[in-house]
Amino acid sequence: MLQEKVYEILDGKAEEIVQIRRHLHSIAEPSMHEVETAKYIREFYQGKDVEWLHYPVGENGVVAKIQGGKPGKTIAIRADFDAVGIKEETGLPYASKNPNASHACGHDVHTAVALETADALMQVRQELPGNIIMIHQYNEEIPPGGAREMIADGVLDGVDAIIGMHVWPAYESGTIQYRPNITMTGRSRFKVEIIGVGGHGSQPDKCIDPIIAACHFMTAIQTIVSRRLDPTDSAVISVGRFDGPGMFNVIPSKVTLEGDVRNCSPRASAFIHQEFVKILKGITEAFGCTYTLYYHDDYPAVINNEGIVNLAVEAMKEHPIEGLKMVPGPMNMASEDFAMYLQQIPGMFVFLGARPQGEWYPNHNPKFVVDESCMIKGAKFFANVAIHYLQTQQEK
Ligand code: MN
Repeated sequence: MLQEKVYEILDGKAEEIVQIRRHLHSIAEPSMHEVETAKYIREFYQGKDVEWLHYPVGENGVVAKIQGGKPGKTIAIRADFDAVGIKEETGLPYASKNPNASHACGHDVHTAVALETADALMQVRQELPGNIIMIHQYNEEIPPGGAREMIADGVLDGVDAIIGMHVWPAYESGTIQYRPNITMTGRSRFKVEIIGVGGHGSQPDKCIDPIIAACHFMTAIQTIVSRRLDPTDSAVISVGRFDGPGMFNVIPSKVTLEGDVRNCSPRASAFIHQEFVKILKGITEAFGCTYTLYYHDDYPAVINNEGIVNLAVEAMKEHPIEGLKMVPGPMNMASEDFAMYLQQIPGMFVFLGARPQGEWYPNHNPKFVVDESCMIKGAKFFANVAIHYLQTQQEK
């Protein structure tokens, strides 16, 4: 069977995948500055059996096509490669040399996994009933994100389905955690200024106090989730900045609030936005204040396609991977611009468990470490699902 042949090829790459990952880890580059990383990815493909290699796609994306030997559908495998603006504190010999960036989100793992998956699939490409597109995406961390620009540049043209994964030390190594539908939340952010009239603390009657209005606003927006949103739906509204720069005897002239909204569907996202504006208008009017509002939808929710998920579960039953289980997992309240691909074509985003022995730290922690043995298993998973997809689609 083709899968088992690919597993064997990948078993021979267990050391190389660690080397690739550690190299990428040491040269961590922040979002939109991933020059050396993109170059490394391009050079990995050069001289190998790809139909074409495109660069840049969007501002800094690398895309390669592995042409199957037989006609069929096309499936994309996406891996992001930017680092986060966190100073690494792991003390590892291959720690980031860049004091302003580190792979504390594990995108180095995603890239190493994708490169070795591609390498193995190239070796069996004559037997593939369809094509594989490798999408190496820059800038996942900072909205608007690289996915949007790569899609605008045509990265999904002729692509029928897409798969992606995120490495996750909170989950046991040796697991792939999945959900059949909503997988990660969508995110919006806001900045509100509530403007009153400042003055002396002893004479509130001569002022319009924006702090009081902002406090009512703060409380009222909590009712969007608790009293207005369908209780079977779920969302989070958090205010992370409440800034009214007066003094003990000075009523300020304005209050600035900034916050974060997480949602589980585009419908909920639009509803929350609408209620948010309604409350802001009503409260400011009631208190005699005015306002300015910036409200922006960053990334939509990651919503998996149930058909592709079922197909992956089936693939793992038919072609088991030693030391790897595919298990249903919890919803992840973080956000990902993989969501944008899923708005265009069916696909699936899963979590690759990577909890190391001993102490572990979550994604975006300066001490983030992973169990590297998850990587070859992740590559086998990508290859398994991609091959199974192409084979089953061909039969249809
Ligand atoms: Mn990430």
